[in-house]
Amino acid sequence: MENYRRREFIKLLGIASFLPILKWEEALAGRVNAVIELPPLPFQESLITGEEKGGRILVVGGIHGNEPGAYKAAEILRNLKVKKGEILVAPRTNFVSILTNKRGYNGDMNRKFASISPKDPDYPAVKRLKSLIKDYKPDLLLTLHDGFGFHSLNPKAWGQCIVIDEERYGEIELGREVRLVSERVNRLIKRRKWKIPVFNTHTFSKNTKHPEQRKSLTYFCLKECSVPAVCLEVSKQLPDLYHKVRFHLLMLREFFKVHGVETEPSLDWVIENVEELLEPKVYYSAELLINGRKVTVSDSKTFKIPKGSRVKFLTFNGTGGTNAITEDLNSNLRKVGIRKRISFKVKDDFKELFSIRFIVG
Ligand SMILES: [Zn+2]
Repeated sequence: MENYRRREFIKLLGIASFLPILKWEEALAGRVNAVIELPPLPFQESLITGEEKGGRILVVGGIHGNEPGAYKAAEILRNLKVKKGEILVAPRTNFVSILTNKRGYNGDMNRKFASISPKDPDYPAVKRLKSLIKDYKPDLLLTLHDGFGFHSLNPKAWGQCIVIDEERYGEIELGREVRLVSERVNRLIKRRKWKIPVFNTHTFSKNTKHPEQRKSLTYFCLKECSVPAVCLEVSKQLPDLYHKVRFHLLMLREFFKVHGVETEPSLDWVIENVEELLEPKVYYSAELLINGRKVTVSDSKTFKIPKGSRVKFLTFNGTGGTNAITEDLNSNLRKVGIRKRISFKVKDDFKELFSIRFIVG
């Protein structure tokens, strides 16, 4: 929140003012020479239902924007079919943080599930996820993260473990299931430091060492919705994205088996093909409307635009992670007024593809 408030202040001082502070027409007539608009960042949840009856699992990715193992694994799931059971996948809960590759561009989103100000830029996403959970009431929610370090070497580290808030909460049994999953996954892991043990934060206990977890998503699920919720953590220090995504999928496969959820192709096949799945062969481009003229951009480009111009980013072609932000101003802004120049980065999640610059005059 600190950062957010500071940026808000800077924004008010600067030329990046936006409605309702200034009407755009007034802005165009006054201090601002061009207006550029991006589409709102989508929330992207997908419900995928199988023909055969089975469990219902909600998979959440991307609460922290600098954890690509988590949101890439969720994105892979989102593109599968389901044979048995049902999955609801929200791969990019915190899209602005993914595009800026920050843990929390607007502060830590996983501390906003107890309360959040409607003025917080994360408010719409947090509210959307909370209502999804309440309405959908899954049999299990799995939230994916890439944590720091290796829990089997250092019990204070959050990387490579399955986190539960308590062994059991009311009627909800968590311990038995996660130990079973941990045991099965660890049979496939040879290196000691890569093993994935269970980490119980005892969040509901009086003497918990992790009272901050009472603001987290899993605590909200248990306490407010009676939905079993578990946090899957791989390590940020694994050698590459492939290993991070693979470990997430190994854990997901075991949870899916326990709940009778089967995908098509199977998670066995997906795990064998992670490398290829992480490099989709797609054509990246952005469609823009510059003063009413449609333009397609697929490489870095600078546009000279006259005073009074209006530019609109219409759509992006590529993957679910393809979108654009500016880093010249507050990256939350999807409509900006500029005086002289601005640059936008078109990205596939954390990866920069090309930039589009505008110079007025
Ligand atoms: Zn995280």
